[in-house]
Amino acid sequence: MSQLEIHQIPVLSDNYVYLARDTATGACAVVDPAVADPVLEEAARLGWRITHILNTHHHGDHVGGNRAIQAATGCTIVGPKADRARIPGIEVEVDDGDRYALGEAVAEVFFVPGHTRGHIAYWFPDSHALFCGDTLFALGCGRLFEGTPGQMWHSLSKLRALPEDTRVYCAHEYTQANARFALSVDPDNAALRERAKDIDLARARGEPTVPSTLGLERRTNPFLRADDPGLAAAVALSGAAPEQVFAEVRHRKDVF
Ligand code: ZN
Ligand code: FE
Repeated sequence: MSQLEIHQIPVLSDNYVYLARDTATGACAVVDPAVADPVLEEAARLGWRITHILNTHHHGDHVGGNRAIQAATGCTIVGPKADRARIPGIEVEVDDGDRYALGEAVAEVFFVPGHTRGHIAYWFPDSHALFCGDTLFALGCGRLFEGTPGQMWHSLSKLRALPEDTRVYCAHEYTQANARFALSVDPDNAALRERAKDIDLARARGEPTVPSTLGLERRTNPFLRADDPGLAAAVALSGAAPEQVFAEVRHRKDVF
């Protein structure tokens, strides 16, 4: 059992890149490097030697730094098997149910299509850490660029089943805008109203709202609550299947 030390690097307008270092061996992964230079500089400042890149999906703001970081460090690039043709420099392909060892810290891989057709997430159970890219956001979920609402609901349901204390390391700071939308579909949720206030205060202080925890997401994120009768009623779909409620909530967010 080995713990990860995790360092968060804000880049571009609202992306988060993570450095995750196995304390037992010093193996260090960059999760979804949107860019290279700020990541290399931050690793140097911390004295961490980058040995791996873990990609969740092929979008440019998640793989843009792959080649330059690989050239600078000789690191191994790990990514989704279903998307091997779209991940620059991929060397290790992983798929649903695989385990991948970063030193002595072991990740379990989930296939979570919806945002893209090849999207995966990495869960490090001993570190209570989930790297979920653009599938699950704090109070939101990724847009359905390549998948159906049914697929995304199934993907989110897998992540929702992880332990309450799992920290959700998502790839964007979208939380404040997500909160405004969440309140529009779930206005009577006291936990959500409380959280929205905390988010406003954190952002006013210039602090990140990520990572969140899965327990908090379960109670407040409308995209994890499509099987809640109250939410179904709020979008005029009482008695409908969760996939349908999810599709309606996602549609409303797309046009919000
Ligand atoms: Zn994306
Ligand atoms: Fe993204």
